[in-house]
Amino acid sequence: MITLGIEGTAHTVGIGIVNDEGDILANVSSSYVPKEGIHPREAANHHADTVSSLISTALKEANITKEDIDVVAFSQGPGLGPCLRTAATAARSLSLRLNVPLVGVNHCIAHLEIGKVRTEAVDPVLLYASGGNTQVIAFSRGRYRVFGETLDIGLGNMLDKFGRENGMSFPAGPVIEQKAKKGKILVDLPYSVKGMDLAFSGIMTAALNSDAELNDLCYSIQETTFAMLVEVTERALAHTRKDEVLLGGGVTRNKRLQEMGEIMAEERGSSFYVPDGELCIDNGTMIAWTGWVMYQAGMSIKVKDSGIKQGYRTDEVDVLW
Ligand code: AMP
Ligand code: MG
Repeated sequence: MITLGIEGTAHTVGIGIVNDEGDILANVSSSYVPKEGIHPREAANHHADTVSSLISTALKEANITKEDIDVVAFSQGPGLGPCLRTAATAARSLSLRLNVPLVGVNHCIAHLEIGKVRTEAVDPVLLYASGGNTQVIAFSRGRYRVFGETLDIGLGNMLDKFGRENGMSFPAGPVIEQKAKKGKILVDLPYSVKGMDLAFSGIMTAALNSDAELNDLCYSIQETTFAMLVEVTERALAHTRKDEVLLGGGVTRNKRLQEMGEIMAEERGSSFYVPDGELCIDNGTMIAWTGWVMYQAGMSIKVKDSGIKQGYRTDEVDVLW
């Protein structure tokens, strides 16, 4: 059985094709590069312009034809309305044309499911840090629960905004990672963990207003925010009594974050998993795989019920699989 997944929650439109074993037959994507922060309508236009040729490229890469597709899945939310609508429209029309089931997937859960199938993780605590989202998620009593999350912006957006103000290209996360390696002095920045939740905009303001040297600031932003992420993840592990840490989201490609997460996991006797970088960032493969898992549990939907959910919560989904 073959599932095609369409991701389109924010700046990236991605097509993934997987089989029922979780093998990746194709994973292609195209990203809208914002000049001044993501403009939802412009991003959606980019997705609309590229999605059908991406589907053709993915089919070619998978060496199959449209008729081989058994299930179509799409990112139903959370995300930017115009982007979500574009991906959903493409998925609906493909599903109608091929007369195959349609599955709407929660984007955050997809980050966790792809990590589970592509690593040895079985029941992990997911540290999910991306452009728009930052959450610590784990399974409990029938749902994926959010144990802690950002109260304002996603960490990636914060890094990108700080980078933009300092003349870095988009996405700034990888540039900050390189500059941080040259930083030597830990600048005092607010450490904003509130209960199990996090906040990043105050740190960004403090960093933007600081006269410290840029490499030192990059280093300090990383050390401070990553320590916050790891602290909340560790407390979620303690609370749930789980012993696996899984990373997901573009920010978790950062080697320093991986190192800090791994040290924490090791000290607790927990296992630590990071999927391939291409599967950490937004991708169609995670949507395809989660769609397949949900389809098997009877969770396909009719087109008339396939409306997008901009504020789709991780814990809204009954995990029937
Ligand atoms: P996503 O939203 O999951 O596709 O991830 C995109 C975000 O990840 C952007 O905000 C990037 O700046 C950030 N990002 C990508 N690579 C890195 C890195 N090596 N270190 C920190 N952030 C990164
Ligand atoms: Mg994401």
